[in-house]
Amino acid sequence: MPELPEVETSRRGIEPHLVGNVLHYAIVRNSKLRWPVSEKIKTLLDEPILSVQRRAKYLLIELNKGWIIIHLGMSGSLRILLEEQPEEKHDHVDLIFRDGKVLRYTDPRRFGAWLWCEDLETSSVLAHLGPEPLCDEFNAEYLYQKSRHKSVAIKPWLMDNKLVVGVGNIYANEALFSSAIMPDRKANSLTQDECTILVNAIKKVLARSIEQGGTTLKDFLQSDGKPGYFAQELFVYGRKDKPCLICGNTIESIKQGQRSTFFCRHCQHGESEN
Ligand SMILES: [Zn+2]
Repeated sequence: MPELPEVETSRRGIEPHLVGNVLHYAIVRNSKLRWPVSEKIKTLLDEPILSVQRRAKYLLIELNKGWIIIHLGMSGSLRILLEEQPEEKHDHVDLIFRDGKVLRYTDPRRFGAWLWCEDLETSSVLAHLGPEPLCDEFNAEYLYQKSRHKSVAIKPWLMDNKLVVGVGNIYANEALFSSAIMPDRKANSLTQDECTILVNAIKKVLARSIEQGGTTLKDFLQSDGKPGYFAQELFVYGRKDKPCLICGNTIESIKQGQRSTFFCRHCQHGESEN
């Protein structure tokens, strides 16, 4: 599933081809995505692209009259084609530009979205989202204050978009490991020092991933290349029963809210109930 770093890399990949360019028209081959592709998108004609932004895992293409909101879902990807290529089975949407470039959206599992909104403030998909993890608003004091009355386990709490956006399962596991915090502790057990360490760990793991993604940007210009998921240096995620890379203890796994949680009991501390 594309996570925040992949979405940000997609944004950086398409931005130079779109901004300042003019959207000539759109081709929607198959409207069936998570929600039907907005009818308005099919009617756009000769629209200059003002900016390409990102909020959480949504890409936001700014036009004079409003915004195209794109979500990559489980398997969506965007490519810039230098000239129109024959479409393939799962190519749902093309944006055709005046200079002949095409932004093509491919989504085999069809959980993505292409929506239109005139004003981002009124967008229901963007409402109630917490701060961006890499912005200053997401800091130790914020996390500490938010955690005071939360008796839920830390890991699913971190993955709640209302608290902070874009902390997917891999990043939550890895950030908690590098912060030496057991994932099943209650959120309100976090100390101020732990909040400082945890916020820094989350920012670091996401920033490193975005940095690695930069090396895949060339793929946006290859007709057959798709941006891959980034090779992470993983300490715990997906490593059940393997030795901890720090202490050699066996990595354990539990389920939290249907998601797999991985941890090292020796390296991570707290009043775990396991
Ligand atoms: Zn360990």
